[in-house]
Amino acid sequence: MLTSLVSLFQYRRLRMTSVPSPAAVSNFLRTIIEKDLAEGRHAQKRWAGRPGPASVQRQGKPDPARIRTRFPPEPNGYLHIGHAKSICLNFGLAIDYEGACHLRFDDTNPEKEEDEYVRAIIDMVKWLGYDWTYGEEENLYFASDYFGYMYEFAEALVQAGHAYVDEQSADEIRATRGTLTEPGTNSPWRDRPVQESLTLLREMRDGKHPDGSLCLRAKIDMSSPNINMRDPVMYRIRHVEHHRTGSEWCIYPMYSWAHPVEDALEQITHSFCTLEFEDQRPFYNWILERLAELGMLLEPLPQQIEFARLNLSYVVTSKRKLLQLVRDGHVDGWDDPRLPTLAGLRRRGYTPSSIRLFCERLGVSKADSRIDYSVLEQALRDDLDPVAPRAVAVLDPIKLVITNYAEGASEPCHAPVNPHDPEAGMRNFTFGRELWIERDDFREDPPKKYFRLYPGNKVRLKYGYIIECTGCVKDENGEVIEVHAEYIPDTKSGTPGADSIKVKGNITWVNAAEAIAAEIRLYDRLFLDPHPDAGDKDFVQALNPDSCTSVQAWLEPGTLAEPGATWQFERLGYFTADREQSTPERPIINRTATLRDSWAQKK
Ligand code: ATP
Ligand code: MG
Repeated sequence: MLTSLVSLFQYRRLRMTSVPSPAAVSNFLRTIIEKDLAEGRHAQKRWAGRPGPASVQRQGKPDPARIRTRFPPEPNGYLHIGHAKSICLNFGLAIDYEGACHLRFDDTNPEKEEDEYVRAIIDMVKWLGYDWTYGEEENLYFASDYFGYMYEFAEALVQAGHAYVDEQSADEIRATRGTLTEPGTNSPWRDRPVQESLTLLREMRDGKHPDGSLCLRAKIDMSSPNINMRDPVMYRIRHVEHHRTGSEWCIYPMYSWAHPVEDALEQITHSFCTLEFEDQRPFYNWILERLAELGMLLEPLPQQIEFARLNLSYVVTSKRKLLQLVRDGHVDGWDDPRLPTLAGLRRRGYTPSSIRLFCERLGVSKADSRIDYSVLEQALRDDLDPVAPRAVAVLDPIKLVITNYAEGASEPCHAPVNPHDPEAGMRNFTFGRELWIERDDFREDPPKKYFRLYPGNKVRLKYGYIIECTGCVKDENGEVIEVHAEYIPDTKSGTPGADSIKVKGNITWVNAAEAIAAEIRLYDRLFLDPHPDAGDKDFVQALNPDSCTSVQAWLEPGTLAEPGATWQFERLGYFTADREQSTPERPIINRTATLRDSWAQKK
């Protein structure tokens, strides 16, 4: 048993070697887990190999997973960068402490949930490099599979006098809830006989009552200083189809009690959630303790632990707001490369390891903060710099004619695929008479400290010759349409004469005879305001009208734009062939991030 477990963990570790181990940095979540493990808090935990109440888990064996965590998305939209923090934490901690992490769809709110979202979420968790298998176990669950247990629990709570059926409307319940300074008032139905509540609850379940006419409430304390403890609603009537259970149910549990029950049925040890749930913790514990007293749940019970959510500048991370951007056509679908959805980041060119690196750098804390978008971009650069192949692209091309180089002649040039990785080999391309260079690399009247091409100045064509600019050709509007220069023989890079002349400028180029045409999409921040949705702001007003511009560029030969291929285009940044639209014949390439934080300079 032991050896097979050890090899299982070794296997998991091997498989996850690209996932940075959170062991490196301690944090308060790790401290809690380590203390719990040291004290054996969960040592007696049993696990039947599937979720279930006490009656099921009691049949199980001691749980081989030392901890159990879960990532519990609601399938009502696509995952965003904020979710990545929760995914990396939950799956990362489980890997690190030899535990299991469940992927659980919290699908208790039928109106907004869809299968499309379920598939997209599974896709993204896998893409980030995580999975929910633990040995033979497939820990992929749906809260809707627990509706039967939840209903049983609700009846038991009613029978024990811990819940009652209320006939007040939602508005009345809200109006009698009290405020932070005043207690609430008891419902006139609060003390109705248990049997009456039980009959009504069954009728609710059986579809005998219309939406909103009745609800089930926990019976706790209407004068509790914590408003969440003032007889919170547990079940409401909704005659709607559920994406998985169809019309089997017309009562749906509220999140606040469904969530702890889901955790307990899955024998979760540590239920990490964001800080806004802190005030829900007393109710989380109340529900579980009552159900344990009634023998329906096994102890030790799961514990809820809160951490600060990720807030990123220049984006919105709320599924509702992202949905609005998609539905109203402000962006081109959930995977628009400008969106902070994981699907959008992937399409833009973010790698799973860059996102994990970003999450690792964030750490975890209990204090809310906002992270600058540039931190995410820096993680991408740090991830790609050692591995991304280099290439030259000219985004705003102007022709450079080497007037003393024979027409039709060419000669080979070489450059490293990646200067940090000699084993990656060399790129091969040719030099010729007509080249594409960046328009900005020539000035007829150069400003001070401009070291690139201007009449009379010498620069190096990177990996090629030193050239001296001799002038330019203009069209009838006075626009420069061609730059002229002469090359200086014996100065080619990599030859003994290369250093014979010192120059300050070093520019990139592509031989026009062999350049590959490509559409390049230059993405910028989606919002101009660093806090587009702070306070009551209408975030749509802050959309950046120039968040996507498209240019026709020239690429170095050999730059095969297979969908998803990534390069560092020298001097420009990181670029990725669009995974949806690019083909080698018609490359469409997304700028993933510039080489430096150009946004900081703009401000
Ligand atoms: P949204 O407001 O975007 O709908 P949510 O919290 O309602 O987000 P869920 O699907 O319920 O979305 O979230 C699944 C998990 O991801 C939860 O445990 C939640 O706490 C966590 N999560 C969501 N947003 C963030 C964030 N910005 N930072 C960290 N964790 C987050
Ligand atoms: Mg939610």
